[in-house]
Amino acid sequence: MFRIRPTCSVCNKTIEKNEPIYVHMRYPAYRGMVEIKAFLQQEGKIICEDCFQQKTKKE
Ligand SMILES: [Zn+2]
Repeated sequence: MFRIRPTCSVCNKTIEKNEPIYVHMRYPAYRGMVEIKAFLQQEGKIICEDCFQQKTKKE
């Protein structure tokens, strides 16, 4: 799925298989799901569930 090793962009822990994650990204300016994967690897910030929940608590 991801060619890069998925790690949380907040705590840098490695994302385990089947772990729920959140991806923070801008919606691509161009259309088409084919490009989404490449776009994710360039622009997407993966956030693990723990960090995401802490983030939403603060806000
Ligand atoms: Zn994290």
